[in-house]
Amino acid sequence: MGKETDINKAIRQHFEMDEFFTGGFAARGKAGPSEPHQQEDDAAVVEAARELEKIADEVRQCHKCQLGSLRTNAVPGEGNPNARIFFIGEGPGADEDAQGRPFVGRAGQLLDKVIKACGLKRSDVFIGNILKCRPPENRDPRPDEIISCLPYLQRQIEIINPEIIVALGAHAARTLLNTNKSIGELRGQFHEYYAGLGRPPIKLMATYHTAYLLRNYSEENRRRVWEDMKKVLAELGLPIP
Ligand code: URA
Repeated sequence: MGKETDINKAIRQHFEMDEFFTGGFAARGKAGPSEPHQQEDDAAVVEAARELEKIADEVRQCHKCQLGSLRTNAVPGEGNPNARIFFIGEGPGADEDAQGRPFVGRAGQLLDKVIKACGLKRSDVFIGNILKCRPPENRDPRPDEIISCLPYLQRQIEIINPEIIVALGAHAARTLLNTNKSIGELRGQFHEYYAGLGRPPIKLMATYHTAYLLRNYSEENRRRVWEDMKKVLAELGLPIP
């Protein structure tokens, strides 16, 4: 690659990065991303929404692990029942526990920016977590908690049947891919998530958690997340803003 091309690439990346984290892309609008990924079948979408609400009700009453008695609110997840992209984080923090909604704190605001930078709206995607209740002091999820909670997420994935899962951070990626690899090894490439026998695997992109990104807000890390999201958009045939 010539020097000229390198410089052009660097300039382009700089401007992309800049806009990515300032939300500049959204203003350019989008055509198509909110269109459903399947042939419109209103009845099926209504049924999916009903099934998701049933799961949410179960989650709100769940006491399968100790977190059930420590929470203020369970956080079942929310979004478009017909979403093409399902973002999955680790578990609710204090803000999410207070509101019963996923990704509404600082990490959530950054996730909103990422979604916006992709030319999408929060209502286009589905957002959930491995754990539906907040671990005390935001400690890491424990294996028994994950084992108790995972079936809710697995059912949500089955119902929504997204084209792509974006696993935010090591806990989500490792749990869904059943691996011990680091997020550094896992991010940036598509993996396969198996939603059940007889069902085709769902593509899974692992990337850094937005909470990690907030703590390590370097240009390099922001560029990595943006590169990962560009791969997601390309895979879905969506314009890269
Ligand atoms: N971090 C997560 O992993 N999930 C949330 O819902 C909020 C912060």
